[in-house]
Amino acid sequence: MVVREWTDSVRLRDPAPVGLRSLFLIGMGWDAHPSPSKSGEVVAAFAEAGWAVRRHASDHSDHDGESRATARHEDFEVRVYEGSGSGLVTLTGWTPVVYPEHRLGQPPFTLSTADGVLCDACHGWGVCLDCEGRPYGRYGRCWCAANNAGPGRCVECAGRGVHSPRAVPWKRPRQGPHGADAEGAPPPVTVEAGHDSHLSAFTDVAQRTCSCAEFRCFWRNSLRGEGDRLLSRFDGTCQGCGVRRAYAFTLPLP
Ligand SMILES: [Zn+2]
Ligand SMILES: [Zn+2]
Ligand SMILES: [Zn+2]
Repeated sequence: MVVREWTDSVRLRDPAPVGLRSLFLIGMGWDAHPSPSKSGEVVAAFAEAGWAVRRHASDHSDHDGESRATARHEDFEVRVYEGSGSGLVTLTGWTPVVYPEHRLGQPPFTLSTADGVLCDACHGWGVCLDCEGRPYGRYGRCWCAANNAGPGRCVECAGRGVHSPRAVPWKRPRQGPHGADAEGAPPPVTVEAGHDSHLSAFTDVAQRTCSCAEFRCFWRNSLRGEGDRLLSRFDGTCQGCGVRRAYAFTLPLP
C-alpha cells in the first residue's frame, strides 16, 4: 500500500526552492502474529533485480529484532525497514534531486533523507552558502568563519549538513506531543483503538503531524501480544524539530 507520497524542496540561500526530490512510503503488512520476517525476501528481490543492496546492523538495543537495509539503483534509493516480529515492512524511496534551471550537484541530505535534523544554515548542503564551499566566492574571499579553517564548510553543522536531535533543543516547540521533551525516554503515549491491522495503524500515523507541523519522521514499529489483543506501537524522531514522537494502538488478535 502506498502510504504517502511527497516532495522535498532543495534551496540555497533564498527561500525559493531550486530543486525537488520525490519520495514515497510504501507499507507491506501481513496479518499473522507472530509474523515471520519478510524483509529478507524483500531485500533478495531487490538484489535479484540488479539493485545494490546493503544490510545495516541494528544499532538500537531497545528494538531487538528490527532490520534495515538500503537498495540503490543509479541515483534512486530505497530504505527497507522491518520492526521486530511485526510483519510490517516499510519502503521509503527517493529520486535524485532534479533542478529545473540550475546545474547543481546532489546535496548530501534533504529534509526526508537526513538521519537527524537538517541544518538550518546550509539546508543540508554542509557548506557555507555564501561562497558555496569555495574559499573565494563571487566577490573575493568569503568571510565565513569556516573559511579560516578550511574552504567554506558550514559553521553551524561543521560541514555535516545535519544536527543530531539532541543538539537542536532550540528548534523544538516548548511542548512536544503529550508534553514530551526530546531527551531520554520516549514520550508517554495514550493507547488508541480503531484499527484492525498494524498496516492500517501505520497508515494513520504516517498522516499525522508533529506539534511543529512537520510530518516527516522515520517511523519504527513493533507489534506484541498483550493478553487477548495486540499492541501496535510506532516511534520516531521528528525530522523538523527533533522531538520524539510515539503512538500506540490496540488491535484485535488475527
Ligand atoms: Zn550546516
Ligand atoms: Zn563562505
Ligand atoms: Zn517536530
